[in-house]
Amino acid sequence: MPRAEYRAYEEDTELAWAWAAGLFEGEGSIVSYMVTNRKPPWSSSYRRRLLTLKMTDEDVVRRFHQIVGAGRVSALKRSTKYPHWKPQWAWECTRWDEIENILRRFLPYLGNRRRDAAEYSVAHPAHLPQTHCKRGHEFTMTNTYVHPKSGSRSCRLCRHMAYLKAREARVPWAASRSA
Ligand SMILES: [Zn+2]
Repeated sequence: MPRAEYRAYEEDTELAWAWAAGLFEGEGSIVSYMVTNRKPPWSSSYRRRLLTLKMTDEDVVRRFHQIVGAGRVSALKRSTKYPHWKPQWAWECTRWDEIENILRRFLPYLGNRRRDAAEYSVAHPAHLPQTHCKRGHEFTMTNTYVHPKSGSRSCRLCRHMAYLKAREARVPWAASRSA
């Protein structure tokens, strides 16, 4: 009667979340990437984040989905290169409010590395545009450099500081002139 064991998890919500967090620790991942707007205002660029969990056991993935109560489960196409491989099942959640809620509930059960990543995600909401660089300079029209090819955005003040630092290393006597 394997199903009876499952029942115990479903009845105790906290136990169910602990189980889900443990599974996520091993099989899940927090995916994060920047979506950069190529045209002004560049401050509208934002971070997109999603949670995924991939496994070959459909029942485990579906149970995880049931416990966290968000996202969706889909079957991943089996590679034609390895036809003997078992098909994979993927759970994915892209809605920020749901991601935040799930990560908050997972937090107490996660190991150090995963907890750091989850805490960082919760502290940096994905849907909010990044208005300041990592050193706190604001991304204004004049302070934003957009790479002509990649379209990636960077802070002009930081770029200038990096340039001065590199020049100082290359030509030590020039440092006094720029001061
Ligand atoms: Zn900066």
